[in-house]
Amino acid sequence: MNSNNMEKIKRYRGTSLNTKGWQQEAALRMLMNNLDQDVAENPEELVVYGGIGKAARNWESFDAIVTSLKSLENDETLLIQSGKPVVMFKTHENAPRVLIANSNLVPAYANWDTFHELDQKGLMMYGQMTAGSWIYIGSQGIVQGTYETFAELAKQHFHSSLKGTITLTSGLGGMGGAQPLAVTMNGGVCIAIEVDERKIDRRITTGYLDVKAYSIEEAIHAAKEAKKTGKALSIGLLGNASDLLYNMIERNFTPDILTDQTSSHDPLNGYIPSGMSLKQADKLRKINPKEYVKLSKASIANHVKAMLAMMEKGAVTFDYGNNIRQVAKDEGVENAYKFPGFVPAYIRPQFCEGKGPFRWVALSGDPEDIYKTDEAILRTFSDNEHLCNWIKMAQKKIQFQGLPSRICWLGYGERAKFGKILNDMVASGELKAPIVIGRDHLDAGSVASPNRETEAMKDGSDAVADWPILNAMINAVGGATWVSVHHGGGVGMGYSIHAGVVIVADGTKEAERRIQRVLTTDPGMGVVRHADAGYELAMKTAHHHNIQMPMLEK
Ligand code: NAD
Repeated sequence: MNSNNMEKIKRYRGTSLNTKGWQQEAALRMLMNNLDQDVAENPEELVVYGGIGKAARNWESFDAIVTSLKSLENDETLLIQSGKPVVMFKTHENAPRVLIANSNLVPAYANWDTFHELDQKGLMMYGQMTAGSWIYIGSQGIVQGTYETFAELAKQHFHSSLKGTITLTSGLGGMGGAQPLAVTMNGGVCIAIEVDERKIDRRITTGYLDVKAYSIEEAIHAAKEAKKTGKALSIGLLGNASDLLYNMIERNFTPDILTDQTSSHDPLNGYIPSGMSLKQADKLRKINPKEYVKLSKASIANHVKAMLAMMEKGAVTFDYGNNIRQVAKDEGVENAYKFPGFVPAYIRPQFCEGKGPFRWVALSGDPEDIYKTDEAILRTFSDNEHLCNWIKMAQKKIQFQGLPSRICWLGYGERAKFGKILNDMVASGELKAPIVIGRDHLDAGSVASPNRETEAMKDGSDAVADWPILNAMINAVGGATWVSVHHGGGVGMGYSIHAGVVIVADGTKEAERRIQRVLTTDPGMGVVRHADAGYELAMKTAHHHNIQMPMLEK
């Protein structure tokens, strides 16, 4: 580890600017926040989360981004190409301050081999979703999505509560780490297998996980006891999922619910092959990456076979957005797609209303600012019981990581309304400093990903990638503070195209107008994309809000 590099990651807080305006300042603070050691999974390597999802291509690029943001004028736009700043153009005050394109490859070349070759030559980086677009906020950023997924699963299969059920999953990384808390928030018991003990410890320290177990017996015993008494409990089980699932089958253990969030989308950097220690894996990855990928893919295939076997025995099984089924299918597991992805199974209706993982961050660094915005949510949406319950529960159970922030699934109409409220709160001085408003790329209208967000679309348009491009373009035109277009996030190279957006509420009238535009077009694209695909709820939402779609049936 190079401690000099770690010293470059600053915790800028308060109201003094290090740049020439709050929009540039927001980009600078969010870049730093993505890499904060309380937020990122491996900041020494610039890795934020999700396998090798990075915030900047290398440390030279990081330095140059920081210098550029510090000198960027209020009528200039900085362009980032796969984590490297390439130019600052004169644009205009209402244009985005930063435009980002990460990991994009021409379709016929869009595979991991080409990417790794370019990555090694220093010509690319993997941006994942919010890593390279500077709006990652740690496990708290996904926890409501994970909570909503399990809540919907409980509604469909277990009388609306996970009480008295055991969920088995794996992977306690940046996103996967939210699973145990999401399960216990729904009243259930969770066993989460993780091969890296440091990750288990990290989730315990940050309140996402309750206890650690070193053996299957210990974990199953504790889980069954909690299930019997209806207690919510999460257990981090140290080991390799590819091996432990089989050991569980041998012991005749079948969970009620089964999923996985290892980074199987990236067999080289995101999955530890069966029987290997972390050290052995690190070594093999360096000296013989081809052999590593071979072993990793074979283990992923076995992992999926074990999932299918548990599903046959009655476990409600789903893919949690890491492309595990595709990797297994490519390895010859013909029935890998027998279990569904989480979006068609549990989430799509929310997308039809433009809902998704909306979030905001207090640039002041003061948690009080977020608590004040919580109150504003409770006031503004007091008739939405589900949402109010979420905010109250989040206040109690979710620790802040890095800059204080809040996640809350708002939809079309709600985001623009709340964005204006945030801007007013900044203008009146109720909040100490401006607020950054953003979302995950995993959102209603910002992603094409046939094995995840757009799996099994009603009209068969799963692979159509025009939508995220239109999403990015309209958000840039509307004056978002930064906009990004990425490839390969979530599910790996060749399988997704997606766009990110961030807008700053700095309390000015110009910001109010930009917020109004962007927080309307952005969730609007979610409604339009799903209405165009023939989803009744989306069509109803479009009619209800008078969204002008020229070819939508009346
Ligand atoms: P991460 O790389 O930070 O964490 C992955 C974890 O899996 C690591 O802690 C690693 O030690 C562990 N792991 C790897 N191989 C293992 C094995 N064989 N057995 C047990 N543990 C193993 O990634 P992340 O940010 O947590 O994301 C996980 C996956 O979920 C990625 O594929 C990501 O793209 C996907 N994802 C899903 C959603 C969603 O909402 N469904 C959102 C974001 C990301």
